[in-house]
Amino acid sequence: MLHLLALLLPSEPEVTAFVDVRVIPMDRERVLEHQTVLVRGDRIARVGPAAEVAVPEGARRIDGAGRTLVPGLTDMHAHFLCDFGFQPDARVDDEMFLMLGNGVTTARLMIGRPEHLQWRREIDGGARLGPRLFVASPQFSGRRYGDPHFNGVEVKTPEAAAAAVRQCKKDGYDCIKLTFFISRPVYDAVVATAREEGIRVVGHVGHDVGLPRALEAGQQVEHLDEFLEMLLPEPAGGRTSVSGMSVWDPRSWPSVDHLDASRIPAVAEQVVQAGIWNTPTLFYLDTFGVRRSREEIQSWPWYRFFTPDYVQKFEDARLRFLEVQPSDERAARFVALRRAFVKALWEHGGKLMAGSDAPELFCLYGFTLHREIQTFVEAGLTPYAALETATRNPAEWLGIAGDAGTIAEGRRADLVLAEGNPLDDLRRLERPVGVRLRGRWIPRDAIETRFDAIAAAFQAGS
Ligand SMILES: [Zn+2]
Repeated sequence: MLHLLALLLPSEPEVTAFVDVRVIPMDRERVLEHQTVLVRGDRIARVGPAAEVAVPEGARRIDGAGRTLVPGLTDMHAHFLCDFGFQPDARVDDEMFLMLGNGVTTARLMIGRPEHLQWRREIDGGARLGPRLFVASPQFSGRRYGDPHFNGVEVKTPEAAAAAVRQCKKDGYDCIKLTFFISRPVYDAVVATAREEGIRVVGHVGHDVGLPRALEAGQQVEHLDEFLEMLLPEPAGGRTSVSGMSVWDPRSWPSVDHLDASRIPAVAEQVVQAGIWNTPTLFYLDTFGVRRSREEIQSWPWYRFFTPDYVQKFEDARLRFLEVQPSDERAARFVALRRAFVKALWEHGGKLMAGSDAPELFCLYGFTLHREIQTFVEAGLTPYAALETATRNPAEWLGIAGDAGTIAEGRRADLVLAEGNPLDDLRRLERPVGVRLRGRWIPRDAIETRFDAIAAAFQAGS
């Protein structure tokens, strides 16, 4: 708590200068060497050659030599631990700091709750330290699941769905989030009402809806749901492959043998033509295609942030999946086809966005967001294109491109300073030299100190 208070105190000078720094502005593919970037309050005041930009008297000077400034990162698919029902909201400041310490300065919360809207107001008002939040609605589901912690709106009829869309718009949520068991009539009502209300629809696509209808509706698709279904010899008619909840169903995995990869370019073209953006959450869904042993998971540097009750719950889930998991061949094909879709979407000019889906199944905020953008590179994107998925692309989708997602004078000074050039190796972003947001500079040592305190508290289960 002391650390948090220290960060909230306005103790630093008004102007910060990143001196002689490399800048990746993300406005187009270019790298600016030997720049000085002046930040005043929460705004970028000046970007120019170090030889030309004078550092004002009294400014905080941060040595940029050999270092790179990139825009703050955005996690387009995040949840809080408390969304799972068994964690107290009291941890949320620590969770948000785990985002910030990883350079995540904007996050879209994918299953909203009224508390999230409250926290957003408190962050914007300066009473809490956290990333800029965008909040999807409570999840719309055709029926309650996961009781007693179902955190959403049950939408069984078109009338109920339409009313729920109107209410969410009124409550101030940024988009409508769909999860599971959505019937086609309910889907149609959600889409029509959302269009009337001027609110976008995002999330899962179910088998009863299918990708062609989602494309027509303009839904922003998460997890590449229903993409593999498009590779089935007869994609229509309710035939299922492996997406959404069906990863847990052993009956869905044999379909992987019949998927026709030669259809991928045509499907990607269709998606791009429809203007649909995607958050593939590759790293998270690799959970179901890559055998991650307990030892591997325990070796992850972020494992220390899991509480004992979290580990219990998700280790149970991991073991449950071992009972339904597919053959090595099917698992590998699942991973390869999803990567092939990501590459094809990118090659066809489609827009991809990075999302961690933390804290699902041992994924954790910025730590896994970094893995996500690295996985995009494994899938075939250039490092620059991968970085776009966590900076410029989300800013465009969120409608804040004039203000964030790129480095330019007048933009918000949400910035990450990395050692070396991250375009040589995106892992350089994993341990920022420091993070700047909302007029504050959070240096590496403050990040480490707070991370250690959070790990100790979470390990103690407090
Ligand atoms: Zn999610």
